[in-house]
Amino acid sequence: MDAKELKEKLCYETPNAAKKMNADGIAAADSFSEGYMNFLDAAKTEREAVTRAVEIAEMNGFSEYDPDEIYPAGSKIYYNNRGKSIILSVIGEKGLKEGARIIAAHIDSPRLDLRPNPLYEADGEALFKTHYYGGIKKYQWTAIPLALHGVIVKKDGETVTVTVGESDDDPKFVITDLLPHLAAKQMTSTLAEGIKGEDLNVLVGSRPFDQSDEAQNIKLNTLNILFEKFGVTEADFLSAELEIVPAFKACDIGFDRSMIGAYGHDDRVCAYPALMALLDTDAPAHTTLCVLTDKEEIGSDGNTGLNSAYMSFFIKALAKKEGLDGESVLSLSKCLSADVNAAYDPDFPEVYEKSNSSFINKGVVITKYTGSRGKGGSSDASAEFMAEIRALLDNADVCWQIGELGRLDAGGGGTVAKYVASHNIEVVDVGVPVLSMHAPFEVVSKLDVYSAYRAFYEFYKS
Ligand code: MN
Ligand code: MN
Repeated sequence: MDAKELKEKLCYETPNAAKKMNADGIAAADSFSEGYMNFLDAAKTEREAVTRAVEIAEMNGFSEYDPDEIYPAGSKIYYNNRGKSIILSVIGEKGLKEGARIIAAHIDSPRLDLRPNPLYEADGEALFKTHYYGGIKKYQWTAIPLALHGVIVKKDGETVTVTVGESDDDPKFVITDLLPHLAAKQMTSTLAEGIKGEDLNVLVGSRPFDQSDEAQNIKLNTLNILFEKFGVTEADFLSAELEIVPAFKACDIGFDRSMIGAYGHDDRVCAYPALMALLDTDAPAHTTLCVLTDKEEIGSDGNTGLNSAYMSFFIKALAKKEGLDGESVLSLSKCLSADVNAAYDPDFPEVYEKSNSSFINKGVVITKYTGSRGKGGSSDASAEFMAEIRALLDNADVCWQIGELGRLDAGGGGTVAKYVASHNIEVVDVGVPVLSMHAPFEVVSKLDVYSAYRAFYEFYKS
């Protein structure tokens, strides 16, 4: 055996998905990505993602979970948790007696929320005050077109759904930035300080209601438009969840159209493939769950986040119908925490350790652990479960790679994995590498999106 043969036998190198995939695979990835891009445009917020998931599920024969019903193998059900997180499930041939196959992805993304009392007038402008949600670089949110999404719930319980800034003829909004001519001081401050949280005020109007000298006339005009359009008054902002998101649509990136640029890939780029994989897994052996959860970007707290017991309650309720002990079922269950990882960026090599980073076009990324300062806050997947997933993906010829979240002590982060693990469920992070993660416009590779779908499908079938 010469050195070349010995190298092939002993050394590991991540295969490049682009090299591994034939023309049919690339065509399948491109076609899958079209569906994903439609989903991105239809579901920019967690509420919209749940609404869209329900529509897709019902078109595919799913019905809303009824606690009083007994579900035979093959039943397709969904549990809608307050319109902000959802569990879709197909009852397996074996039911839950050997545990469930769970994929959990999150459908909230970094954004700017309106404050409870958002609207004010200053120096000829009407503006909304915001409170940023999740980890953002604040300067990235200025001077780009923005849209307003969310709900306003009136005192009588009526819910008004708001979407402004998405259709071509809709007005958009913007956070203004300082012109370079007058930014001498701003340009010497750090990126963290150049635009502060209190500077993230959204421009929403500039014309007065009438020509009178009445104070706050521009604010009044804005309120009048909102009243005419949505039937709401200023007090109704007090019971609203309104989110400012980029007004961009998903689009192809690159001459070769190999990538997708969009707002909110993190984590719809895992949520959509997980949903599609669940729909496509006919008659699974084990009961499958696709959990699309909220609040990951702020630590998974709140009753719609995975630090809440809603997922374990659902599994325990299904177990009870089969006469099983819910806690034993949880202990036997396996989960892919489907979340993104940071793709290696040649512009910033100093924050990555190349041999343990994920790259675009090398397939879905398995992240054994996340965390910071020595794996703190991480659910470190076991070697046994890593081996199982490795074998599963290799046997099905799914393109995959390993990835850590950057160089040691460059920062760090977490996912829902530890909240799943807290129920004694076997779990590992599996997702898509993303460039410009958490920016208003993130980039992924179509081959990686499709590899995620294929990985999730194989897991549900297992
Ligand atoms: Mn994420
Ligand atoms: Mn994130």
